[in-house]
Amino acid sequence: MDTELERRTRLKKMLNKMKEQILQEAKEEMKKFQTGEKRQIAEAVMDDADLSAIDISEDISLKKLSTHRDILKKIEEALQKLEDNTYGICEMCGDEIPEERLKILPFAIYCRDCQEKIEMIEKFEGEES
Ligand SMILES: [Zn+2]
Repeated sequence: MDTELERRTRLKKMLNKMKEQILQEAKEEMKKFQTGEKRQIAEAVMDDADLSAIDISEDISLKKLSTHRDILKKIEEALQKLEDNTYGICEMCGDEIPEERLKILPFAIYCRDCQEKIEMIEKFEGEES
């Protein structure tokens, strides 16, 4: 049996690795906008500016950037949760979410059982309305 600390260290490593990867990808995307107006928009996207003011739906690269930013945000949240000792804990039943699941779904907030229950309820509610 490994300790909670070891589990957390491994999860932290995993999240940090993801973060590096995303940052690298975002940098590559940013390279496409070396100068000009597009560059400013790209920087605004990464800075989490008010995106409603910018129509990025037409530009695939900018869209990618905003996806990167969203993922980065989620990683930051997960890292913060890790600090608070709430990462990898099911929000429904309070059980530990297995590491195997977190490797595939790093932002999972429910264990598999609860997720299935939720999906069943959602499906049921969807059929009802
Ligand atoms: Zn659960």
